[in-house]
Formats: sequence, structure tokens, C-alpha cells
Amino acid sequence: MADYQLTKEVMHVGEMASGAELTVPVYRFKGQTDAPSVYIQANMHGAEVQGNAVIYQLLEQLRNLKILGDITLVPYANPVGCNHKNGEYTLGRFDPITGVNWNRMYHFNEALIQPIVEQYLDSTEQEIEAAFKQALLDDIIDQLDHNIYGLTTGQRIAYQLQKLAHQADFVLDLHTGPISSKHLYCPEYAKASASFFNIEHTILIPNDFAGALDEATFCPWWSLTEAFAKKGRTLNVNKESFTVELGSQEQIDLDVALDDAKSILTYLQYKGVIAGSEFVPETMTRYACYLEHYKAFYSPMGGMVDYLAEFGKPLAAGEPLVRILRMDNYGDGDALHYISLDKEVIPILHFASASVNQGTELYKVFSEFFEL
Ligand code: ZN
Repeated sequence: MADYQLTKEVMHVGEMASGAELTVPVYRFKGQTDAPSVYIQANMHGAEVQGNAVIYQLLEQLRNLKILGDITLVPYANPVGCNHKNGEYTLGRFDPITGVNWNRMYHFNEALIQPIVEQYLDSTEQEIEAAFKQALLDDIIDQLDHNIYGLTTGQRIAYQLQKLAHQADFVLDLHTGPISSKHLYCPEYAKASASFFNIEHTILIPNDFAGALDEATFCPWWSLTEAFAKKGRTLNVNKESFTVELGSQEQIDLDVALDDAKSILTYLQYKGVIAGSEFVPETMTRYACYLEHYKAFYSPMGGMVDYLAEFGKPLAAGEPLVRILRMDNYGDGDALHYISLDKEVIPILHFASASVNQGTELYKVFSEFFEL
């Protein structure tokens, strides 16, 4: 089918000391109708590269699909993070100058909400949606272009990406864990959509803004809906955003990426961004956990770690998560320590290195979970 319209643009997101431009590629498919639109980006964290392969596979798949709504795809979203190497490893989780996490620099201005509620209380949903979308866009453009005290390098990158995200109805931010199973961060109100992704584990997150792109996208709309509800008006806003954790960092697997692209297309088909019925969610047991029950387990001791617990499967209370080797105790002491929890958990990801200090985040687990 040759009726797709792919365009490519190079977006300028910053400058290096030399004057060299920092750029990211922006790929766009123009939808054939005014169906809902989607924005998908990858690799905001430097080592989390698999999303670039997923976007490649999405581009390949979309060539043969009927595209109803606009689709914007941005691989390699953070040119500073992606090039932040040390030895054979990619760093790029934190801005090396400020120490701030690259995915905590997005913008949410709560002051935009009340004026919309007051001015549009009796308007149609379409009018409210259009007015608030424009307010979000004007606000981010204002931050970018009229902020007399300037922006940090990370804010400038984040806000330009956010300008693209605010134009879409659905937003997917593709990340990975360190060594990790696939999992999805989903706003609580969009729980029904989680079953359209071929991902077994979903973390349900509340309406709290901490600077991430998914939150910067759904918190404004969620808060707007709540503000209207306080005035007795129910809004059915069709806006969703997710952080999709695709597995482990520092890895590209094009075959797995094709599976993940199909998983995303299943969601896009469900949302009417693409036409057809060929994508069907895989049958699997999907577990969910509220964010407050998604726990980091910090190492009770320093040492060398043998990670034992398998991802994604309930681990019984008392079963070992890890065994830790202590080099100072060979021969005359406890060289080997088995570490377990006294409740059932589902391990989701673990630290990427075998050597840990006391207090290093060893595992992240679902501590209380249920079937989705
Ligand atoms: Zn990440």
C-alpha cells in the first residue's frame, strides 16, 4: 500500500560548546482522517536503546497499514545522553553537569487548569479539549522562547519533545530497565488499555507529577477532569500516556523489537489510530501493582551478587532473591549469604552489576499484586 505519507524532519534541540548542533530526527505519518494521534519517543536515557529498534520496526510495519490518525516517531530523543559513554558502557541516565535524571525535566503548569474550568464550564467537550490543548502548547512554547532566565540543557531538550507530545492524544515513552523484564507504567484511569500491550506486568500510577514525560502528559488532563468534576461536570477525555519498559539496557534485538512494535500497534488499532483488525492482544496472565507497592529492595550488605530470582514469576516468601559473596570471609567466616524476603513478591528488574555496596538497589519487585 503506497498511500502512506512519511516525512522526516531534523529538530534542533541544543548546541554544544563548539557550536555544533544537537539534533534529533522526527518521523511523521499523516493520518488519513481526524482520528486520534500518537507520539512515540525512545532513548531519553542513553543506555536504553531498544526503543530505537522498536521505532524502526514500527516504521516498517506502518508502511503497509492504513493510518487514520497522525503518528509522530522520535528515536534517539536525547543526543547528549546517547553519546555519554564511559569505557564500554553508556551512561546517560543523569545530566552529567547537573546530576538531574533526564526523565525528570518535563513541565507541568497547574495554573493552566482553573482558567479553563471557569471559561469553558458550559462548553462542549470538543471545545474544552481544543482550548486546553492550545493552552498546554502555548505554555510550553512560552517556556522555550520567552523565558528570560533561560533553560538548562535538559529542559530545552525535554520541552521540545513535550511540544510534540502535547499535540498528540496518546504518548508512549520507550525506556528499558537495567537488567529487566518488560513492564508498563500506566495511569490508574487507563487500566483497561494495559491489556492491549503484550506486556505481563503493569504498574498503575496515581495523578502525581514528578517530572517524567508520561506524567507531564496525563497529569494535566487528569487534573482538568478532576477540576471539572468538582464543578459537577463529567469529562470523557481520551488522552493516555505510558512509559513502556522494553527489557534490559545496552541491548538491541530486532526480532524482539518486531514483537514489541506489534504490541504497540495492537494498542494503536484499539485506539483507532490505525485501521483494521489484524492485531490481537496475546493471551497471557497480566499482573498489576500500584506504584506504592512497587518496591526497591536495597542490599543489606556489600559484596558480589549472584542474582537468583527469575523475573515475572511470583517468588514465595523465604525463597532467595540473591546470594552474596564476601571475599573477606573466605575460609574462616560466612563467605556466602542468601537474601530473601518474608513475603511473596514478583521480581521485575535487578541492578546491572554484580558488585554492590550496602544500600545499592538490588531488585525492584511487585510487593502486592493482582491479575489485571
Ligand atoms: Zn529510562
